Amino acid sequence: MLKLFNTLSRSKEVFTPIEDGKVRMYCCGPTVYNFQHIGNFRTFIFEDILRRTLDYNGFDVTHVMNITDVGHLVSDEDTGEDKMELSAKKTGKSVWDVSRFYTAEFLKDSSELNIISPTFLPKATDYIQDQIEMVKSLEIKGFTYKTSDGIYYDTSKIEDYGKLAKLDIKGLSKGHRVEFNSEKKNATDFALWKFSPENSNRQMEWESPWGKGFPGWHIECSAMSKKLLGDHFDILCGGIDHIPVHHSNELAQSEISNGEKFVNYWIHGEFLLLNEEKMSKSTGDFLTLKVLKNRGFTAMDYRYFLLNAHYKKKLKFSMEAMEGAKAGLANLKGKLNKITPENPDNTSNEIIEFYRDKFLEKINDDLNMPEALAVAWELIKDESIEPWIRRATLLDLDKVLGLRLGEIDEAEVIPEEITSLANERLEAKKNKDFKRSDELRNTIKEKGYSVLDNASGFEIKKL
Ligand code: AMP
Ligand code: ZN
Repeated sequence: MLKLFNTLSRSKEVFTPIEDGKVRMYCCGPTVYNFQHIGNFRTFIFEDILRRTLDYNGFDVTHVMNITDVGHLVSDEDTGEDKMELSAKKTGKSVWDVSRFYTAEFLKDSSELNIISPTFLPKATDYIQDQIEMVKSLEIKGFTYKTSDGIYYDTSKIEDYGKLAKLDIKGLSKGHRVEFNSEKKNATDFALWKFSPENSNRQMEWESPWGKGFPGWHIECSAMSKKLLGDHFDILCGGIDHIPVHHSNELAQSEISNGEKFVNYWIHGEFLLLNEEKMSKSTGDFLTLKVLKNRGFTAMDYRYFLLNAHYKKKLKFSMEAMEGAKAGLANLKGKLNKITPENPDNTSNEIIEFYRDKFLEKINDDLNMPEALAVAWELIKDESIEPWIRRATLLDLDKVLGLRLGEIDEAEVIPEEITSLANERLEAKKNKDFKRSDELRNTIKEKGYSVLDNASGFEIKKL
């Protein structure tokens, strides 16, 4: 039985899909004006664990992640420049090139991090007409008003606006959580359609019943989820920063436009912190996967680092913690890959199911990744189980962990030349030719490896 913490009810709930055996899930994706940092990927990996957990439980999952390539302004509210247009201006590229470049980078990193591709990956700019239709439906129902810079949603028209974030609407004075916009009727009102500025040209703009312009940031998710998943679906997720603004607004638009409950389970992941603060693109203080790789870590080392924390807890990033994760993963893979993969006849499913159930119990308890990982460790160390059964079971659990445990990294394969030098060194030591053995140790080191003596001869490690 899968239980998930639902932000809407602020409690852990048993997950029951709308349609038996099927799950429809929407994840708010990246704004492609810059590289996605490893903080963003903390959210995408928690969503990937959720996706994999649903798959592992046997659900047929339709998973949508959007690419935001228009409308997300510098402030999460409706002020400032469009992040995409600003990035294009800074780099001298077209906004479409910026979008293509960062989308490709995002997909490359996602694939290295072993994030399963969503069923649909819609771009906001491919669904402009659907967004216009949704704004029209809100207008017909009387929930919009016009200002000099756009069409806005009047949040005072719905009783329960802010129910997701438990916003104190009365306490939010006009302009309190937004940069001041004197034409807004209420502090929480938000743009559905923004007009192109009269005195400057935007690269991305479209005709609409209200004039030339571009959609507000939130309407894309409401329109694309409606198109791809229907009016009412199971899960919507993202990072916790989406709760008070983006998700509260998606909910408000969709429930009025669709005329029914929007989403059953709202799942949010906590932040990755750098120097005690949220890792953030806007402050510029962020690390990418590429930086980690330049420091000698693999994408899987980062994934393993994340699995050691519950997705609902803040997580501090540090290179020391990454070192620990790297060693932990190498150890786990080392134990697994020592076992030869061939599968003799006398396998017993009983034991596999015992660990599989134990693992499921943890991961189904609101994705308790650290405890699920602990089960994987317990299993690999359990010498009462035949090694090949341990191996097969751990590889099965890895369908959820996504650590590519069965793959041996190129870097882990010690070149023959190094092994033969190490053998030569061992011979020299046996012959008490310590000068030669020291020389060989240095040659091995120069080639990027260290050799350690142990009871069975030696162990070689990549430096
Ligand atoms: P963005 O590209 O800014 O729209 O962000 C993409 C996703 O990353 C959103 O779900 C954010 O909530 C999430 N996110 C942003 N910063 C962090 C962080 N430091 N830690 C975890 N998730 C984050
Ligand atoms: Zn969204």
